[in-house]
Amino acid sequence: MARMATDTTSSIVPASDRAPSSWGMGDGQAIPWEYAPAPEARDIVTIQDRYGLFIGGRFVPAHGGGTFATVNPATEETMALVARGTPVDADKAVRAARRAQTRSWGTLPGKERAKYLFRIARILQERSREFAVLESMDSGKPIKESRDVDVPLAAAHFWYYAGWADKLDYAFPGRVARPLGVAAQIIPWNFPLLMLAWKIAPALAAGNTVVLKPASTTPLSALLFADVCQQADLPPGVVNIVTGPGETGMALVTHKGIDKVAFTGSTEIGKRIAKGVAGTDKALTLELGGKAANIVFDDAPLDQAVEGIVNGIYFNQGEVCCAGSRLLAQESIVEPLIDKLKDRLSTIRVGDPLDKNTDVGAINSKGQLDKITELVASGVAEGAELYQPACDLPDRGYFFRPTLFTNVAQSHRIAREEIFGPVLSVLTFRTPDEAVEKANNTVYGLSAGIWTDKGSRILEMVGRMKAGVVWANTFNRFDPTSPFGGYKESGFGREGGMHGLHAYVRLEDR
Ligand code: NDP
Repeated sequence: MARMATDTTSSIVPASDRAPSSWGMGDGQAIPWEYAPAPEARDIVTIQDRYGLFIGGRFVPAHGGGTFATVNPATEETMALVARGTPVDADKAVRAARRAQTRSWGTLPGKERAKYLFRIARILQERSREFAVLESMDSGKPIKESRDVDVPLAAAHFWYYAGWADKLDYAFPGRVARPLGVAAQIIPWNFPLLMLAWKIAPALAAGNTVVLKPASTTPLSALLFADVCQQADLPPGVVNIVTGPGETGMALVTHKGIDKVAFTGSTEIGKRIAKGVAGTDKALTLELGGKAANIVFDDAPLDQAVEGIVNGIYFNQGEVCCAGSRLLAQESIVEPLIDKLKDRLSTIRVGDPLDKNTDVGAINSKGQLDKITELVASGVAEGAELYQPACDLPDRGYFFRPTLFTNVAQSHRIAREEIFGPVLSVLTFRTPDEAVEKANNTVYGLSAGIWTDKGSRILEMVGRMKAGVVWANTFNRFDPTSPFGGYKESGFGREGGMHGLHAYVRLEDR
């Protein structure tokens, strides 16, 4: 039977203006202040009307002259027309990358490659506000996340791999590390600049050249990055950016001139890409979907856990492959935990991504919003109990309320499928064995979280989690030195750290 619960406290104060009970002000009292709008200025970034493909160090129109629009998901306005790259353009880009690999980049000493990477890192930092504003406008993510997470981490990846470029002999002692050649890199829309950095920085450090295809809903930060490559005087053809639809991505994957394919995105497309490289000697890394369990034991510090749960699932609107989308709460603490969570949800601010107070911005596209809406409806229809805090959504744009489901069964779609939205499904457990059983009961295996006071329990649980990354008493922490990747249908191969470098080299005996 479908059950729905909403905030029913009776009061003359509108629900969205009521103070959470944890503030100790008494039920129904009004929040004693308002957040003034704090919009970030847009004029720091110049958005062109049209963008070309970046091939061989120059911006060029697509073969046939086709374009597509990229839309600001918070306003539904077209931001720019972007070249619709075709397989012919993919071929040109691969040839440009091959020329650069054999004639300049692949023969450059590591310390010279490092100089370029350091320069790129520095320019990213210098232009960080420009990147943050553009990223938030094109993707819908809150400015405080693009400003404090995406852009600094992207720069950090270039700093980190710049440091390895002249030290490959130390990274792989006793072996000679050779570049693989030309890499095709296909990235998603949830962290457009950061995923670009995860892919391009290690590839270039190891002496490869790249052709990168951004997602069609978020091409602009990659095209601004092309401008950074020009500013850094990167030799032409080392980085090529081909915008366009999935079929152009597949033209890259199956191109004979490609030596390595790196993909981040949905498991469905990941499987197609694996088929596309099957039977060739191309190297392949796949970073795909997830359905992470965030496990809270009864000895966990609950207030800290609530912050971790909120960060785990509402960060970046939940459009995160490693999002903690399944909360596994020990039965004895589930009630106080849910009360605290509901309280905390009532303080989350949903709205304009460019407002510095915004916690949850716009969903990336209409298509993604429809997918989230459909899965949430399935949760209600299958009998889970839905809770959404009272909050006003902007009239235009693709917004979705932070959502919490209790009474979730493992068989429900909301417990099995990757929603990729701000939707948390709460399940319960009694014993550690049951927690392990439920956490691993998924086709995915990208990440997990454990909240407990006991170090011994953390170590025991970590060993039993079938997940590539396990966070303890925290969630969604990233660092360029730390490898990231999945088990099972979450893909294979690792990005970040020395593991990430390994994915772009061929090791030979001395
Ligand atoms: P996709 O996997 O379709 O997109 C990821 C990238 O692959 C984009 O650049 C896309 O290009 C490209 N692509 C699409 N089709 C092909 C193809 N046949 N060959 C080569 N490249 C291709 O993700 P969606 O944007 O469609 O999102 C669907 C769902 O996938 C989401 O709801 C979410 O659940 C999941 N997802 C998971 C991500 C993760 O990091 N785990 C990231 C993004 C999505 P284009 O944009 O032009 O279609």
